[in-house]
Amino acid sequence: MARQQPQGMDTTEISRLGLELGEKFHEILRSVLGQMPMPDNLSQMERDVRAAMLQLGNQMLSNWLALQNPTYPPQTVSCRCGAQAAYKEMRESVLLTALGRITYRRAYYLCSACHHGLCPLDDRLGLRPGEISAELEDLTACTGAHLPFAHGGDLFTRLTLIGVSPQTMDKATQAYGAEMATVEAEWITTSQDAEALLRQEREAPPVERLYGSLDATKVHTDARRDADDNGWRDLKIGAWFTTDAQPPATPDGDWQIQAKDITYFCDITDAETFGNLLWATGVQRGAQRATDLVFLGDAAAWIWNLVSLHYPQAKQVVDWFHAAEHLTPVAAQVSGTPAERSEWLSQAREDLWEGRLDAVIARCAAHVHAGCADDPAQEAVTYFTNNRHRMDYPTYRAQGYQIGSGSVESGCKQIGIARLKVPGATWDTAGARHVAKARAALLSPGHWDMLTSRRVRQSTTG
Ligand SMILES: [Zn+2]
Repeated sequence: MARQQPQGMDTTEISRLGLELGEKFHEILRSVLGQMPMPDNLSQMERDVRAAMLQLGNQMLSNWLALQNPTYPPQTVSCRCGAQAAYKEMRESVLLTALGRITYRRAYYLCSACHHGLCPLDDRLGLRPGEISAELEDLTACTGAHLPFAHGGDLFTRLTLIGVSPQTMDKATQAYGAEMATVEAEWITTSQDAEALLRQEREAPPVERLYGSLDATKVHTDARRDADDNGWRDLKIGAWFTTDAQPPATPDGDWQIQAKDITYFCDITDAETFGNLLWATGVQRGAQRATDLVFLGDAAAWIWNLVSLHYPQAKQVVDWFHAAEHLTPVAAQVSGTPAERSEWLSQAREDLWEGRLDAVIARCAAHVHAGCADDPAQEAVTYFTNNRHRMDYPTYRAQGYQIGSGSVESGCKQIGIARLKVPGATWDTAGARHVAKARAALLSPGHWDMLTSRRVRQSTTG
């Protein structure tokens, strides 16, 4: 569509705008400074000045927007169907912006060929009549990705003086999550394109040691709204990261599990579909080209099945904390004094740390209660036997690998637990999925800004 670009503002226009705003400013000053009774504390004065700034900003945005209309609207503009649309009238609409509600007018055209009505100014500036502006959407979605919508709405209004309903915040946050899902779908397409992979191989910088990590957490979903679940669904979460941090000399030492360049991805879906996302996000990080790829996780079968399928070359490591956790309930069963139990635990942990898996398994086996269901000692024996090839901790330490998946653990907590576990709340699956994706984007450097530019670009293409 051909667009008529209005001229940039000249000094006369700026001066006129200045005069109009000056009058408005004067009016605001009179009402703030002339109020009776006069405020008797600074807080009241601060609140009044903040409200005045917002009013003035609102006025400035309104006037600036009005000046975007050409003085004489052209009689016709090109319609997207190819025909010419005729000028009808100046039409009024409303926008909710980061500076409050704004009423504005712009030229409205109607195409007699396809009966499509259009406002060139809306298309050019990405105005969304009757809706929230892209800027306000960014701010509310960001708040909604941090906090439950009701709390987020309260905080947002306190900080910005702009009233935003929980529903508006929900919608904005979900829009960002849905945008992330679209980005991921594009990544999945690219990741299955052999040409694109070869190009990356040739052009992208080499990737040395890269870590991947997978985990899952439960999300409480509303079984009445979702026929396909029984009230709880797995939110699968993954992370890609690098780190210079190494494990301490002893397991009780100081763990510095700081990840660098971490990017998160998540979904509520089956393992196979999640595998496509694992591969696609991996391609974004060059995981398939990494000279040294290390996967950290707990011992869930779906994790290692996906890793073996997509990254057969990767080193598989059971996260130290997950492994050591399996010893605690066994220690509780050891007969004797608390000191003896504590001694048992410390010996077993040392064996595990030093990679003496036969000894760890024998220690646990000594406390198996034969024929007892859910016996933690029996579970530990099975667990250590099945995963012993992923627990060669002395070798991993010697190679300088991180063996504690603190980053993705904390990602799980931050995405699943901190944001999606809202007391008394249940989610519909689509909502939970989108909010989780929005939150993962927020925690992954660069992702949120990418989503914002995509949202802005979409509104300006009409
Ligand atoms: Zn048309």
